Amino acid sequence: MPELPEVEITRLGLSPELEGRRITSVTLRRPNLRWPIPGEIKERLPGQTILAVRRRAKYLLIDLGPGSALLHLGMSGSLRVLEPDVAPGAHDHVDIALDSGRVMRFNDPRRFGCLLWQPQGETHALLRDLGPEPLSADFDGNHLFRLSRGKQASIKTFLMDQGIVVGVGNIYAAESLFRAGIAPSRPAGEVSRPRYARLALAVKEILTHAIQCGGTTFRDFIRPDGRPGYFEQELFVYGREGEPCLICGCILSGSRLGNRATVWCAHCQK
Ligand SMILES: [Zn+2]
Repeated sequence: MPELPEVEITRLGLSPELEGRRITSVTLRRPNLRWPIPGEIKERLPGQTILAVRRRAKYLLIDLGPGSALLHLGMSGSLRVLEPDVAPGAHDHVDIALDSGRVMRFNDPRRFGCLLWQPQGETHALLRDLGPEPLSADFDGNHLFRLSRGKQASIKTFLMDQGIVVGVGNIYAAESLFRAGIAPSRPAGEVSRPRYARLALAVKEILTHAIQCGGTTFRDFIRPDGRPGYFEQELFVYGREGEPCLICGCILSGSRLGNRATVWCAHCQK
């Protein structure tokens, strides 16, 4: 599944191709992805100039005068910008043609992605109630400490709650807790302010590094220029249950927390 770094890399790749370009046509090869594609996509997009390509959590927003096209890559989606003579394949569901002559193509074999419409001045229901961006100044140890008081949920489940902070998926929660030295099953309400400061810093460092590496965690990830992202990443715990800890050599533990596979080092994480 594309995580926040892959979506941010997609945004960085799309921005120079899209911003300032006018949309000349929209081709929908099916009426729905995860949800029906609203009529505004076909009606409102053609003729509009793309003002900006933004990211909020794992959503991409293509800003136009009357509103924004709201995209999510779901489990398997990718966006590429291609020459117009590249024939569409079986899972190429949407083409947005640009006045540069090139075409932005949305491919999504499993169709858990979406393409929706957000009118100007409104916030789509999917974007309401989201916590701060993890790489913004609004996200820090004090934020986590304040919201965690009285919470019995495990700190890993707490960290993955999109209302607390967006975009920290299973991989990044596991790796951040390892780096901060915090056991993933510890109740969120019991973790001290200094430990939350270390955790917030770990989240920022790991996400920033993943973005710099070109998207490292999604095997099928295709960048907008068509090159694969690197999968080789220094994962310390994720996917390594039963293997030795890279720091202390102890065998890594595994269990499920909040119904998600969780791996940690019982020696390094308390
Ligand atoms: Zn260890």
